[in-house]
Parts: sequence; C-alpha cells; structure tokens
Amino acid sequence: MYPYNPHSQKAEEFINHEEILETLAYAEENKHNIPLIDSIIEKAKLRKGLSHREAMVLLDCDIPEKNEEIYALAKQIKQDFYGNRIVMFAPLYLSNYCVNGCVYCPYHAKNKHIRRKKLTQEEIVREVTALQDMGHKRLALETGEDPVNNPIEYVLESIQTIYSIKHKNGAIRRVNVNIAATTVENYRKLKEAGIGTYILFQETYHKESYERLHPTGPKHDYAYHTEAMDRAMEGGIDDVGIGVLFGLELYRYEFAGLLMHAEHLESVFGVGPHTISVPRIRHADDIDPSAFDNGIDDDTFAKIVACIRVAVPYTGMIVSTRESQESRERVLSLGVSQISGGSSTSVGGYYEKEAEEDNSAQFDVSDNRTLDEIVKWLMDLGYVPSFCTACYREGRTGDRFMSLCKSGQIQNCCLPNALMTLKEYLIDYAAPKTKEIGEKLILEEIKSIPKEKIQEIVRKNLVEIEKGNRDFRF
Ligand code: SF4
Ligand code: SF4
Repeated sequence: MYPYNPHSQKAEEFINHEEILETLAYAEENKHNIPLIDSIIEKAKLRKGLSHREAMVLLDCDIPEKNEEIYALAKQIKQDFYGNRIVMFAPLYLSNYCVNGCVYCPYHAKNKHIRRKKLTQEEIVREVTALQDMGHKRLALETGEDPVNNPIEYVLESIQTIYSIKHKNGAIRRVNVNIAATTVENYRKLKEAGIGTYILFQETYHKESYERLHPTGPKHDYAYHTEAMDRAMEGGIDDVGIGVLFGLELYRYEFAGLLMHAEHLESVFGVGPHTISVPRIRHADDIDPSAFDNGIDDDTFAKIVACIRVAVPYTGMIVSTRESQESRERVLSLGVSQISGGSSTSVGGYYEKEAEEDNSAQFDVSDNRTLDEIVKWLMDLGYVPSFCTACYREGRTGDRFMSLCKSGQIQNCCLPNALMTLKEYLIDYAAPKTKEIGEKLILEEIKSIPKEKIQEIVRKNLVEIEKGNRDFRF
C-alpha cells in the first residue's frame, strides 16, 4: 500500500487508490449534509478552487436546490473568467500507426483491417492549407505511438512544416501536441519546436482497469503514463492538458483522479493543468461503446463539467466533436472554454474526404457541422468565437499565464484578442450571413472591454485588419 502524497512524483502516491476510495466514501456519506455542502459552495464562491474531496461532495450531491446553486455558480465563474468567448481549434491526425493495444481505440495494433496512414510532409501542407482555408489558427496534433513510423523526429519536422505554411492570409499560430508519453529529452525538443500545450489523456486513473484496457505496448506501463506530465514539466513545457475518457471506469473515480492530478501538478510545479478535456467514449471502427459499461448520461456529464469549473476555475475546459450539438450547447454555459469545429478525425481527412471503406478515423464525429456553421451557431447563442493564440506567443505560459488570470487582467487581453481574430475570420473566411452577424457582434462587444484605452487600440486595429493587415494581439 502506498501513502497518499500530492508532492510525490510517484504515480501511485499522488494518484492514490486508497485516498480515492476514502474520498468516494466521504462524498457518499456527506452527499445530503446540507451545512457541509453550503460551506463548500461558499468556499467555491471565493474562486480559489476546491480540494478533490470537497468537489466530490458537490458531484455526489443529489439535492435539486443545491444542484441548482452549483450550476448557477459554475455559470457565474465561467462568465467571470472566460466571459462569453469560446476558443476554436481543430485536431490534425498525422498518423494512425500505433504499437499499443488500447481496447477502446480502433488504432490498436491488432486491428488489421483499418487503413494505416501516415502523412508525408507534402500531405501535411495540403491538410494544413485546407485547415487554414476554413479559418483555423490553432491545431491539436494527434498521432499513434510507433517509434518506427512516428518517431519524435517526424513529429518535430511536422511541427516545423505546419508553422512554415503561409497561404493567403492563413497561418497556424499555435500547435498543441497530443502524442504518447515520452522522455524529458523529447519533451524538451517539443518545447524548443514551439508547441503550445502538451496534451495527454490519462484515459483512466484506476490502475487495475488501466492495465486491463492497455494490455500490450509501452502504454501498458501505468506509472510511466501517469508521470508523463511531470516529465513534460521538467522538459520545460509548462502548459499541459489532462483528461480522462469517460465511460471506461466509474466516473466518480475518474473525477477524483483528475482533480488529484491537478493538485499534484500545482503542488510540485506551482502551476496546475492548462486545460482539462472531458471526452466520452464514442463508436469507431471495431469499437462498440456499449461494450464499456461505465457510460455516463448527459445529466451526469453536465454535472461533471459544472463541478470541474468550480473546483479549478483557472483551468480551461475542452469538448470535442465527439459531443453532439445539444450536449455541447448545454456544457458551454457551465464551463467549457474551448471547442473543436469542422473536425476530421481521419488521417488526411481535411484535404480529401475519405470513402467509407477507406475509414481511418479514430472515432465517429457527432457534431458534423462546418466551422462556419459552428461560428454562426455560437454567435446566435450569444458567444464570441475566438481564434486567439496570443498567450504562448507573448510568453504567457505556465505560472505567468496563471498570475495574469488570477489578477483579472486577462479580461483586457482575451476579449480584444477574440474580437480582432474574429474580425480576421469574418473578412477572410466567413459566409455572408455569418459575416453580417459577426460585424454587429464585434461593435457591441468592444464596449465590454474594461479599459477604454484598449477599446481605442482595438478600434484602430480593426481598421487595419480591414485594410489587410493581420495578427494584432495583446
Ligand atoms: S489511444 Fe492512442 S495509444 Fe492507444 S491505440 Fe489509440 S492511438 Fe494508439
Ligand atoms: S489571450 Fe491568452 S488566455 Fe486569452 S484567449 Fe488568448 S490565448 Fe487564451
């Protein structure tokens, strides 16, 4: 048995099984304890976050009035920290060669009928040009683990290619990377290549289930995978994104694990995760989600999002096109700050749509709308779609980003940047109706920028953007 220690860098000490079981028991015992629930809600109102135990009590609470208070607070925190902005991104699949045996992913090594593909640098240029022509500025690179087909050199070369492509007014300004757990040295190389966030999902924090779900390949090693973010931080990457795949294990266990992971990073490195992703398992080639009996319904999903929002107010939250339009709409107001749009989950799927029999997708997309449809939909709902990538380009990563967040000054960066990047999108890529709605929205929203001086600069920059200049940022 391992002792629980959030400061330890040993997986089984900072994600401690006994501590999670005690947390679950504590929450079960206290889920109707109104004075305790009230005191936790009061603490959450201070916007300094909650411990995993406190957040777990809120997640388990099934008193309708208290749940309403939790949802209202999540909405308020979302509004205070993120306003009505939603940052847009797209995944880019480089290769689906993979040596691992993850039982929930169609890229697992034993799947002999899925078409294996790896993009050449020329194909990456075609894909990225197609993404730029949609209006994307921020990508999440995805690739299977395969030291022969997808070595780190291939990933680094691909990043360099992506940043170098300038097509019309397009540019990918931030490349986030989601590749398998690797060494400190490789993380350092990724940092030097100029990546934004390093993303790695834990899939499940439950060690026994983890080993069963990852029967073969290097990913089988629970400790190596769970300690990856520590190595990434040691390699100089201070923006890391964590997540679990809901449906694999009991959601309560995963929720506690996610927050313990965040607490661990905060206590060792002084900065928690930059983002938390909340994917749910989806149908894919040779994967039937009903084979996993821990699926969560939409209400539970919404409650998880709300409780993460109040527990870690400064951490961005991401939902992908795995979620339907309805589900995304619900969680946007509760705390989600980034969504993907117009996504292809296939290798090479942006330049050329795949034929059915040629399927190389990692999962079936549930929200199939184009980026322009999503941008318009967001604005119709009162959100400001943002293509901002400013922070890491201005060196605002890790604790510098967090302290700006905590000082409240981020509001003077995010909204102006959102409006200026939206303006670029409207001029370069939007359909006429989207453009019309967006132009009105920008004029309205400028007035909400707290500092007048900044409002003035934004107005000037918007004129410059009209004239063809690009890439203004705070
Ligand atoms: S989840 Fe990742 S590591 Fe596992 S099979 Fe799929 S691509 Fe490979
Ligand atoms: S200013 Fe920074 S935090 Fe705000 S939207 Fe842009 S990149 Fe994100």
